[in-house]
Amino acid sequence: MHFDILISGAGPVGLALARTLAGSGLTIGLIEQHSEAALAEAAFDGREIALTQDSAAHLRELGLWTRIEAMVPGAFSPLRDAQVQNGPSPFAMVIPHDLAGRSELGWLVSNHLIRRAAFQALQAAQAEHGDITLLTGCAVADVQVDAERARVTLADGSEHSARLLVAADSRFSTTRRAVGIGASQHDFGRTMLVCQMTHERAHDHVAWEWFGYGQTLALLPMNDCPETGMPRSSVVLTLPHQRIMPLARMAAAAFGADMAQRFDHRLGAMTLASTRHTYPLVGVYPSRMVAPRFACVGDAAVGMHPVTAHGFNFGLLSVRTLAPLLRAAAAQGQDVAAEALLARYERTHRRATRPLYEITRAIATLYTAESAPARLARDAALRVGEALTPFKRLVAASLAGHAPSP
Ligand SMILES: Cc1cc2nc3c(=O)[nH]c(=O)nc-3n(C[C@H](O)[C@H](O)[C@H](O)COP(=O)(O)OP(=O)(O)OC[C@H]3O[C@@H](n4cnc5c(N)ncnc54)[C@H](O)[C@@H]3O)c2cc1C
Repeated sequence: MHFDILISGAGPVGLALARTLAGSGLTIGLIEQHSEAALAEAAFDGREIALTQDSAAHLRELGLWTRIEAMVPGAFSPLRDAQVQNGPSPFAMVIPHDLAGRSELGWLVSNHLIRRAAFQALQAAQAEHGDITLLTGCAVADVQVDAERARVTLADGSEHSARLLVAADSRFSTTRRAVGIGASQHDFGRTMLVCQMTHERAHDHVAWEWFGYGQTLALLPMNDCPETGMPRSSVVLTLPHQRIMPLARMAAAAFGADMAQRFDHRLGAMTLASTRHTYPLVGVYPSRMVAPRFACVGDAAVGMHPVTAHGFNFGLLSVRTLAPLLRAAAAQGQDVAAEALLARYERTHRRATRPLYEITRAIATLYTAESAPARLARDAALRVGEALTPFKRLVAASLAGHAPSP
């Protein structure tokens, strides 16, 4: 089949882009290796996504916020403040919400709920406009591009083409690779374990990033557990891979006790409240975000380390940057893959993402270094940061985004 725009990957960003382009007069094909049933019932994957206020506003605009609330009332937890700690010291650099001029820095919601809601929104747009074709259950195997079109071959041998091919197929994008775009990859040599836990003491909706010695812990405050009424958090533990795997397999009670100890009993007793999931930590930044008749969005454009919680936020930003350019080109009868349009997208998205990508890489590297000078530098950086209100205001603004109150 031939389309105006072919999107490879129906993750949350590919779905959001297709939904945003619906009704623009463009025909859209959306390719996903998993089945339609897997998209409709996206399984819990341990990720709790910290949303900036800009992303929260975007989810409302796409109709995802209401859909998620209808699926799971109380699914969005407010992220009031954030604190960063180093080593065993009780000292913390605190980023309060009022520095961002909001009553919370952002919101927390489960990734699988975003995916389910995005798929529902896509189906609704498909029913309303009839301009989206879903091609599920088959992966992109090859791509050929000429002056007129991008041609995609799927694993079953079928072929499709488009005026513009958009990669939304993860940080290890097959389509990006197939068009010949390289990427710089930073393997942090660590693996993250994520799960939900309930605990005795309240978190007061404060997120923790705790760069301990030999391990990194994060606590993302969720609304209380609906079954037990206990305080509940998403817990993120980062360790070298071989030390994570025994924890991922440990019996639940022993795991709870181990985690309580890792948190220095600051939350009291802790109980495992979900399945455990592990993710290797690899940051990826491609050398180009566009090529003739080709663009990358989402993780395919910027594969962030999760420590600054910006991967999906940047993914939505890529949609907010690219989609209006495509809609405007369609409205004016211009080529959606015009060189100037793609160059403008790339310029804007690189400028918005590269600094935080590099800062995140530097933070993650410094705060996992275990030498004595590095530990001292970590402590000094937090104490200086705590004393510098303009710096904290900057961090608060970056966590919160800049959208006005909804
Ligand atoms: C532990 C963890 C915590 C995180 N926390 C946060 C956070 O707090 N805040 C935040 O903003 N971000 C966070 N992120 C990042 C966020 O999850 C990602 O940025 C987001 O999922 C990217 O969405 P995407 O649609 O671009 O890619 P993906 O979610 O990777 O989806 C890609 C899709 O493409 C499909 N696909 C892949 N290859 C092919 C192919 N060859 N053919 C067809 N289909 C293909 C896949 O099946 C998948 O459906 C976190 C990530 C992790 C791992």
